[in-house]
Formats: sequence, C-alpha cells, structure tokens
Amino acid sequence: MQLRAHRCVKPTLPPGHPLAGKTVYVPAMAQGAVEAFAAVFRWFGVAAQPTPPSNQRTLELGAKFTSGDECYPAKITVGDFLRILEQPGVDPERTIFFMATADGPCRFGQYVPFLRKVLAQAGFPDVQVYAPSTQQAYRDIARLGSTFERTAWRALVAADILRKALLQTRPYETAAGAADQAFTESVADLCQAIEASCTDTACQMKSLVVSLQRARQRFLLVPASYTRQRPLIGVVGEIFCRLNNFSNADLVRNLEMQGGEGWLTDIAEWIGYCNSEVARKLRLVGQAISLEMLKSTLRSHVQHSDERALLAPFAQDFAGYEEPHISEVLDLARPYLPNTGVEGEMVVSIGKAAYLARHGADGIVDISPFTCMNGIVSEAIYPKLSKDYGGIPIRNFYFDGTQAELQRDLGIYLELARSYREKKPFSRRYPARFKQAMAAD
Ligand code: SF4
Repeated sequence: MQLRAHRCVKPTLPPGHPLAGKTVYVPAMAQGAVEAFAAVFRWFGVAAQPTPPSNQRTLELGAKFTSGDECYPAKITVGDFLRILEQPGVDPERTIFFMATADGPCRFGQYVPFLRKVLAQAGFPDVQVYAPSTQQAYRDIARLGSTFERTAWRALVAADILRKALLQTRPYETAAGAADQAFTESVADLCQAIEASCTDTACQMKSLVVSLQRARQRFLLVPASYTRQRPLIGVVGEIFCRLNNFSNADLVRNLEMQGGEGWLTDIAEWIGYCNSEVARKLRLVGQAISLEMLKSTLRSHVQHSDERALLAPFAQDFAGYEEPHISEVLDLARPYLPNTGVEGEMVVSIGKAAYLARHGADGIVDISPFTCMNGIVSEAIYPKLSKDYGGIPIRNFYFDGTQAELQRDLGIYLELARSYREKKPFSRRYPARFKQAMAAD
C-alpha cells in the first residue's frame, strides 16, 4: 500500500460535544468487538470501556427491573449497566450508556425507552443513553461523523476476523488455553493500533493490517493438531445471544468440548443487512435514483473495500470459510422468507443457514433468547430448509439464564451431525492447514 508522506493526526472531539468529560460504557455483546469499539471512542479522547463481564449480580439486577416480558438480552444489558452504577465512585452525571437500537418487528426498538425508564426507577435519571439506530444503518453512531463511523466499522470487522481465527484454532489446540491467549493478546494489540492510528484512512488501514498480521502469527504459533473428524457446525440466530458468551452459556466452547467446531455468524453481516434495508426502503419510496441512494451505495462499497483489505492477512486461513455478501444471504432466504415481506434477524438466519449448508457445514445451530420471535419463526421454517438441504440437522437452542443440560443436548446433536456428514450432498473445502491431517485421517 503506497502512502503519501503526511503527519499522522489523531481525531479530537468537536468543541462542546456531549461526550466530553463523560465515561461511555459499551455493552459487552461480543468478545473482541466491544473492546475494539470502546478503543474507537478512546481514539477520540472519550473515556470508554466495555461493561464488565456479566455475572450472577447481572441476572439479579436484570430480574429486579424486568417483568419477564422483556427479552433476555434486555435483562443482561440492564443488569450490567446497573452494576456499573453500584460501583463506588461512579458519577451518574458523567456516565453515558451506549445502546444501539433497531426498527422492525422485534422488541429491540423498545430497549432504549425501557432502559431510560429503568434508570429513572432505579434513581439514576441523570444517566444518559446514546442510541444509534438501524433506521440510518447506525450512521448516527455517536454523532461523531464519518471518521468515527468508518473506524468503528474497521474495528468491528477486525474483531470479527480475530474471533473467526479463534474459533478455527481453539478446537484443534494441543496446549489448553493457547488459542484464547492468542486471541486476548491480539485484541489488545488491535485496540492499541486503533488508539494510536491516524485519521488518514490509508495510514490507519496500514496499521490495522499490520496488527492483524501479528495476530495471524500468534494463531499460527498455537500448538495444534488439525483433523477433519470434527463436525463443522454453523451458528446463526439472534445477534446478542449468539455472540454473548454469558447469554448462551458459552455454547460454542461447549460444542468444541463435545467434539465439534463452530462457524459463528459475525457482526458485519448485520451491518450489511441494515445497509441493504436502507437501500430497499429508498427504492420503495421511489428514491432509487437519489442522493441518499448514492450515499448508501458508496457507503457499502467503502465498507466492502475495507473488509477485503482487513481480511487479506487471513485469506489463506479462511479458505472454505468465506462469508457471503448479504445479497447472497437474502437470495438464499427468499424461497422461505422473502425480505420484501419480512424484516429482521429471522431473514438473515434462514439465508445464512442455507449458505452454511451449501458450504459443507455438518449441522446448524440457532441461538436465540427464550420467547424471541426471530427464533420462533426461524424454527418453524428449519424443517423445510433441512429437507431441501439433504436432511442437515438444525437445532434451536433458547436461552433465558436457566440452561440445564446444554452439554448433553449438544452431545446428542453432534451425533446427528456426524451421521449427516456421511451422506451430505455438499462437500466442504478445507484450508491448507488440514491437508496433512486429511492424508492421515
Ligand atoms: S431479536 Fe428477539 S431477543 Fe433480540 S431484541 Fe428482538 S425480540 Fe428481543
């Protein structure tokens, strides 16, 4: 990458910006992503940090301020935010909670008013909530302009890449904990790279790519023995619950302990879906040719170009694990849930499940919060999808904090996946690291 000679400049908050002097807490939705996202705020000079790891107190506080009608992710995020306010020395007037929101047919759109109501009830009416929305495909994120928005996108994609590398390595490690350590060090390295980066987009990209190259080396050094005996299980479902290890009782790690490997759907897919929805709605109101559509198209183009650049260091390792363009996911969902008539995560889960089946997955797991409409609708469709894809086993796992027999259920499910693997109509492409193992198996 050729760089013009320039002086590296870091961004600053615009004068009088409401985040000045405040501490922003970001819900710990996904390991790696939350740290990287908080680092983008710090890059702007805003004190920002992830909410601390969820625990029993999270559930106690969440339960105290919910009635049971709310979704499980709402209970977790409310519980985690209230735990912060219990900490000694926390000044509510200087505290801001970051909470993305959404339109569409699910309760996510109610999270922000609900959180504000709970904060007032709990005696913290002064705590502010920052809430970017899917209506703008999160363009209003933190109201810090395109520099923040683009860097946040890069941070989330880079974290997705690190999580993918972790999940491809950990099942095969021969030194327990080595892959997790490589991941933790790589996330810290990425955060440092973000905070030290420059506002020049090419210069910043160079430093992020170098950070990912270092990460790749760490993962390559993890002692591992690759075998194709492990079933590959695609993991789809509700974004918070599938990515938040506390919410889903660390399902992917449990899957690994039972002999499988998880291919977990990432965050970037949801942003791609939100972009596609913005474009679809512009077409619906007769603005197919408009300035807004031009901006939306350019935005998607820039995001894909950034994604390709960040993926380059791992291109060889991710062979056979390529993520689809959102248009392919929506096309695959169309026979079951056309996106012209249905909106939300169920569309993406169905399309991604079909994509994973076509790319040689041995099974699909859908992770959803208990009573989540997206999970319930998807579950009704999976039998037809399974039949269309040679009988691939698809199993919904619902979570509400009381999961009891996860190991047993996963063990039984993996037996189904092993049996499907013997007869599946779609073969899997293995990356080079499996080559020697394939000769030995
Ligand atoms: S997708 Fe389900 S769990 Fe998530 S906010 Fe919507 S209804 Fe709640």
